[in-house]
Amino acid sequence: MQIFEKLKEFRYEQLVFCHDEATGLKAIIAIHDTTLGPALGGCRMWPYGTEDEAVTDALRLARGMTYKAAASGLNLGGGKSVIIGDPHTDKTEALFRSLGRYIETLGGRYIVAEDVGISTGDINYVQVETSYVVGVDVTYGGSGDPSPFTALGVLQGMRACVEEVFGTTSLEGRTVAVQGLGHVGYHLCRLLHDEGAHLMVADLEPEATERAMREFGAKAVEPDEILFMPCDVLAPCALGAVVNDETLPSLRCRIVAGSANNVLDEARHGEALAKRGILYAPDYVINAGGLINVADELEGYNERRATKRVMRIEDSVRRIIAISKRDGVPTNVAADTLALERISAISSMERLHTGHPYGQLRRRRETI
Ligand code: NAD
Repeated sequence: MQIFEKLKEFRYEQLVFCHDEATGLKAIIAIHDTTLGPALGGCRMWPYGTEDEAVTDALRLARGMTYKAAASGLNLGGGKSVIIGDPHTDKTEALFRSLGRYIETLGGRYIVAEDVGISTGDINYVQVETSYVVGVDVTYGGSGDPSPFTALGVLQGMRACVEEVFGTTSLEGRTVAVQGLGHVGYHLCRLLHDEGAHLMVADLEPEATERAMREFGAKAVEPDEILFMPCDVLAPCALGAVVNDETLPSLRCRIVAGSANNVLDEARHGEALAKRGILYAPDYVINAGGLINVADELEGYNERRATKRVMRIEDSVRRIIAISKRDGVPTNVAADTLALERISAISSMERLHTGHPYGQLRRRRETI
């Protein structure tokens, strides 16, 4: 792999290889862009087939975090780390503490959190060695399960969408089809039920569906039918790539707004949705509640403040819809524009000299 060619393609700042023979640590930290602040992004543990695969994944995910943080109004950059290894067999205290030491050497340029294959318990080991870590256990002052915050953000993003399509931010009386009733889907159903929405739900686990029927009066739908139900809002909260060449012609919703990552199989499906008159809330913006919540730990976690910030996802989605109309582009493209415009605006601010060093110098001269 031509590493520098790869870094040049999307202007990555730094790629760090971490190797510890004793603990077996083989990790890669990718820092994409720190214009807005330190790079924050989870650590993924995965048995990558090749080192190239691991590098490619770290780089791709780090760039995604730059956009997510920027579009969410966070003063953070984008980064991500990966550990090459099997999360079922290769985890040890020493491995994670070793990763923590490497992160510490970056002096705060990268802040780690959980991602696929990593638990709060693993993060507890990382934080023994570095303070550049979030997503720590509540007993250590952390923010706990991010899912309720992700669900709240999805609800807020939905408000902006229904306002655009139906002229009101209320979900009362709207029909929402929720695919996946796991951590986020369940909380989303609760919020929508409280708001007076009609729910159609599906999950592969019958108990999850029964619970939603019992607690929220939801109508159960077969998992292979939920995407195609006539509804106001389709909320994918299970898997990615649910909007693809096969499903697209049969969607019967007015809005797609859910927590799942990578909802669009390919970027071109954003345009295809727009052509069908379906409004799409870009995944990385509407599902940023968990990130916003966990990032609050950097200031000493405050749930009220975090909640307030998550609520602003409504404004972010509203802004994306406005950019989409302004530029005549689909909303997934408009989300990238929002992120890039913010990074560009902040980086082009006037660089004012604060005066301290010269002032100190002058004072020192005067005393000589
Ligand atoms: P989860 O694993 O707790 O829940 C997913 C649920 O979807 C499970 O109950 C599973 O049975 C169900 N499911 C899987 N395939 C299905 C199918 N074909 N039809 C119907 N149901 C199906 O995951 P989660 O934490 O709730 O996350 C949901 C999605 O949101 C994921 O794509 C995740 O990456 C994304 N996300 C989650 C968070 C968070 O805070 N948890 C934050 C950002 C994005």
